[in-house]
Amino acid sequence: MPAIDKNNPALVAPKRSSPLFSPGTGDNSALVIFVLGGPGAGKGTQCANLVRDYAFKHLSAGDLLREEQDRPGSEFGDMIKSYIKEGQIVPMEVTIQLLENAMNAEIEKSGNRKFLIDGFPRKMDQALKFEEVVVPSMFTLFFDCDEKTMHERLLDRGKSSGRADDNEESIKKRFRTFVETSMPVVEHFEKEGKVVKVDANKDREEVYEKVKEQFTKREVPKGQ
Ligand code: UDP
Ligand code: MG
Repeated sequence: MPAIDKNNPALVAPKRSSPLFSPGTGDNSALVIFVLGGPGAGKGTQCANLVRDYAFKHLSAGDLLREEQDRPGSEFGDMIKSYIKEGQIVPMEVTIQLLENAMNAEIEKSGNRKFLIDGFPRKMDQALKFEEVVVPSMFTLFFDCDEKTMHERLLDRGKSSGRADDNEESIKKRFRTFVETSMPVVEHFEKEGKVVKVDANKDREEVYEKVKEQFTKREVPKGQ
């Protein structure tokens, strides 16, 4: 894995003493819901439902990283590629900057300030930094799923996804990273009373019904 040059100016997380946005949908605000769950838990699928019914902008951290990896001239391309293949977490500076850019672009384009941030934060440092410099989250939607279910789904997806990490070896590493590195993030937000947990082993319609129940309970606004 390539070493990270911490002196690279592009790799310095935004230095701000307060978050860029305040939580909510008014001026200078952003409403962020983190969507977490193991690889193959169904985050992307359920996010699509929420985009349709709640007018969210869906930002997948993994998709943003893959896009950056493939962007001609990106200085991070090779680094991102090797982290993803190894199921490791790309240094947070890169991911936070990509998310912040995508949020600003969406606000400018459509005025929409509601974001589902899918597959992020996957590590404690990212969770703390994002809430410190971008915006505190409303809550985390956590898809709780058995490894056996996720494994079957990923191998199935691997037949057509073309993803470099939907293979037996990478899947094993991603599960490990999820348990060791990402579950502590869920536990951290749980202590703050900011986790909505949904059983993700059921079929997609049933899972979505539970998600909607919770969103109603938490009074997530439907429009922009
Ligand atoms: N990734 C990362 N930081 C993030 C999110 C994703 O480094 O904040 C990398 C990590 O290597 C992960 C990969 O991107 O294994 C794929 O993430 P994605 O969310 O696409 O996977 P999914 O959970 O949807 O299977
Ligand atoms: Mg995904």
